[in-house]
Amino acid sequence: MTTRKKIIAANWKMYKDLTESNDFFTFFIENIQDTNAEILIAPSFTNLWHAFEATRDYPIEIIGQNMHEAEEGAYTGEVSAQMLKSIGIKRVILGHSERREYFGETNMILSDKVRTAMANEMKIIFCIGEKQEDRKDENHFKLVESQLRNGLFHLSEKQWESVVIAYEPVWAIGTGETASPEQAQEMHQFIRKTIAGKYNNEVADGVSILYGGSVKPTNAKDLFAQADIDGALVGGASLEVESFIDIISAL
Ligand code: PEP
Repeated sequence: MTTRKKIIAANWKMYKDLTESNDFFTFFIENIQDTNAEILIAPSFTNLWHAFEATRDYPIEIIGQNMHEAEEGAYTGEVSAQMLKSIGIKRVILGHSERREYFGETNMILSDKVRTAMANEMKIIFCIGEKQEDRKDENHFKLVESQLRNGLFHLSEKQWESVVIAYEPVWAIGTGETASPEQAQEMHQFIRKTIAGKYNNEVADGVSILYGGSVKPTNAKDLFAQADIDGALVGGASLEVESFIDIISAL
């Protein structure tokens, strides 16, 4: 029996200003049903503090969407682990495909970010996933394995307690196209097996692996029914408060 956590995480990307964010939380807090799942929400940097304050008395964790790999320095426009920690943020998303694609975040940079997060006792949601062409070329397992190896396999067994993985096939993010439950399960099982191969079954069985890529209230239940899918990282459908609540209910 594994005790890994069920998690639903919202990635708001560069959406929602302060008013929209506050409106979301007012409705969300009034309408969220009891759940065994951990609820994580990643607003923009400018909304983090208000979101943290608005949810302080509720079982909702506000998390960062990104952070810089340096402890501090002349990096205009960037945010450090310590800055996040100083306002109560204890977890951050790293390696989102949009960061990899549009902001040049390589496996090497990401492994530095992971190192910095661990040094600052920040938990991480580490995103991995193949592009359409990788899947077409049947290279998707290899690609995901290399993202895992380069990004996370320098961690100690103990540090894995601070890691959640989000498998997000790039072709399914924001496209409306979702991996089938079988495709997602196949990759989640592969990820777990790869971690077990590098570490052991205890580490592999303890890590929550979320699926991300056009999760909606209509497809969530079938995805969550898969043995190795422990929840979801939700983009578009998390912006709409009612659909986000429905996805949580599906878990
Ligand atoms: C995401 O941004 O992590 C994501 C999964 O987006 P969407 O749900 O919109 O595909």
